Amino acid sequence: MLNAIKSTLGSLMLWEMLKGMALTGRYFFAKKITIQYPEERTPQSNRFRGLHALRRYPNGEERCIACKLCEAVCPAMAITIESDQRDDGTRRTTRYDIDLTKCIFCGFCEESCPVDSIVETRIFDYHGEQRGDLLYTKEMLLEVGDKYEAQIAQDRAQDKVYR
Ligand code: SF4
Ligand code: SF4
Repeated sequence: MLNAIKSTLGSLMLWEMLKGMALTGRYFFAKKITIQYPEERTPQSNRFRGLHALRRYPNGEERCIACKLCEAVCPAMAITIESDQRDDGTRRTTRYDIDLTKCIFCGFCEESCPVDSIVETRIFDYHGEQRGDLLYTKEMLLEVGDKYEAQIAQDRAQDKVYR
């Protein structure tokens, strides 16, 4: 009986609506958390798993030694590698493709790499307009690596103690 009276009084006084309006009012005057992307960006972890990149050593030599561990560990089978021996006896990839339409951004490839060659960068706002645009070739991956090496190296250095 008491509950029925309470419920009726609550309905008559539009209590639920007042509670809702109070909540709206609170957020109306609170500090806004919306950001003006792309001019403004939210903070990112140095472990962010975005677009892949292949890295070089400071002397310009490719880090990748074509061990194919990343290809083997990739659960999405998104990586395709072909390799050959160079004149100096070292082994390097002749093909290194990542199909980003298959990739699930798990990070296993970078975890498995013994020479810190394949990495995932902080870049997330890339896109493709045609079929095949998201099939990243070795040249494209090296280009990403060359462009963002400073940030990649800084992120890796920050994480070194945990590896
Ligand atoms: S992030 Fe994961 S799914 Fe994507 S290429 Fe690397 S191992 Fe494969
Ligand atoms: S990127 Fe790393 S794990 Fe993959 S083939 Fe090259 S050296 Fe091996």
